[in-house]
Amino acid sequence: MKNIITTLLLLLFVINFGLFSQTNIKKTEVKDSVPYIAKANIPPVSTVINVNEVKTPPKPASNDIDVDEFDESKDEEFDDEEIDAVSDIYKNFSWTSERLNPYRVKIDSLPDTIINCAGFIFPVKGSHITSPFGPRRSRFHYGTDIGLTIGDTVVAMFDGKVRIVDYERRGYGNYVVIQHPNGLESIYAHLSKKLVAVNQEVKAGDPIGLGGSTGRSSGPHLHLELRFLGNAFNTTKLIDYQHQNCLYEKFPLTKKETFGHKTELEKLKEARYHRVRSGQTLSYIAHRYGTTVSTLCKLNRINRNTVLRVGRSIRYR
Ligand SMILES: [Zn+2]
Repeated sequence: MKNIITTLLLLLFVINFGLFSQTNIKKTEVKDSVPYIAKANIPPVSTVINVNEVKTPPKPASNDIDVDEFDESKDEEFDDEEIDAVSDIYKNFSWTSERLNPYRVKIDSLPDTIINCAGFIFPVKGSHITSPFGPRRSRFHYGTDIGLTIGDTVVAMFDGKVRIVDYERRGYGNYVVIQHPNGLESIYAHLSKKLVAVNQEVKAGDPIGLGGSTGRSSGPHLHLELRFLGNAFNTTKLIDYQHQNCLYEKFPLTKKETFGHKTELEKLKEARYHRVRSGQTLSYIAHRYGTTVSTLCKLNRINRNTVLRVGRSIRYR
């Protein structure tokens, strides 16, 4: 009897052990499979990278003309006749040496066009920009200043016809303005000597003057401007100063891109100034014109602790 009971107990033990061990196996399987399934749900690293690679970069606004994406096939559409039409623009105006900008065409009225830059020649030996195009305190600097040595030869950038040869004591000094058949006008200022005459036809690369520091100038440099219908634009949009070359054979001139500085110009026109008198502080000026000290600091590129010299102009708008 004892043996039978022992055998039964043994049997029960074996069955139980078997069951438990099976449960244990199941548990282990579940334990192992759960993280495996979880892992399977997270895309492997390589997939994540692929997803990012597939992502397309954000597209610019539809009327943005991205210069890099400028479609050359569209470029082809501007045939020679249309490019010639650009040079005809000036035929609607009388040829004059009396005024720098006789056209009086506002930026908003400028046509978008293509400027043929074939035959471009860099105007001086050096290419070091000493002062860029853009706002300069209360004024706007319409040119790009290039460092040079007095007496360096300055040459015409494109073929053209000399429209102005003049001297301006408080401004350009000795300067030359050339009108080009591609639709642009170029201005070369602060020359020590002028080598061309009004109405003279020039070829790209022809000497037109010698570099200098005449007029309103703090040192020898060439003040170089490019204008379209009297409106100056940043020469770095067209000229590659590093390689002394033109960035484009056919330059896409647009109001939006080429004359993007229009808003800065307008802001500058709205600017108002206060001349500092003895004892006046930034908070006094801010209070007087209903603005804040931090706005004054931003507008004048100064900080709260800047000492206000008597007679200094502080922009408040
Ligand atoms: Zn300048």
